[in-house]
Amino acid sequence: MEFIDGDLILYLSCEVNELIESWLEISEGEFSALGIVEEVEKGFLVKEIFLPEQNCSNADTVIEPEAVAKLLLELEKAGYDTSQLRFWFHSHAQMEVFWSKTDLETISLLANDSYFISMVANKRGEYLVRVDIYHPCELHFDEVPVKVQIPTLGLKELAQELFFQRVQTQTLPAYQDIYPEVYYYDEFLEDWWEEERRFKDGFHPTKRDF
Ligand SMILES: [Zn+2]
Repeated sequence: MEFIDGDLILYLSCEVNELIESWLEISEGEFSALGIVEEVEKGFLVKEIFLPEQNCSNADTVIEPEAVAKLLLELEKAGYDTSQLRFWFHSHAQMEVFWSKTDLETISLLANDSYFISMVANKRGEYLVRVDIYHPCELHFDEVPVKVQIPTLGLKELAQELFFQRVQTQTLPAYQDIYPEVYYYDEFLEDWWEEERRFKDGFHPTKRDF
């Protein structure tokens, strides 16, 4: 995967986005979720997200290690590669989105030999995403933009076929090709059809005065 700063995007699958939005809508306090991540061109895709058992308050979100262990076991049983569990989502409920001291401590605990992605959101739909890369060198990206990955329906070929069948496009010559000294495009367009007719009739002006 190659990217430059400012070029990195976090993609959420439609499913992940809908689950997060639904949980945010009904939650009263903070909560956390963990997601399976895949590397894609120019960023990362959160393909699936899981909600471990947890006790949450208005001010913090705590997932007990036992709950994480239980989740890992369930995922392994279901055939998931748990090494791809590299996304931590948590909500700040009604509060602003920022990285609190506890959040930063949690992120440093989640450090690994590759990368980890953290996202914090609130009930107003505000969010922050950071990507911490640990290998081959340590890089930290904050305020990474998020996009929802919209699945394609395989209509591109049909759409293009229909377009070429139905839409005829005529290319007008560029005005400056004929009159390089001046460029009054609107005026040129007005006169173009008349000029073309006269060209066809054998009339070839070399230059016009404006
Ligand atoms: Zn937080």
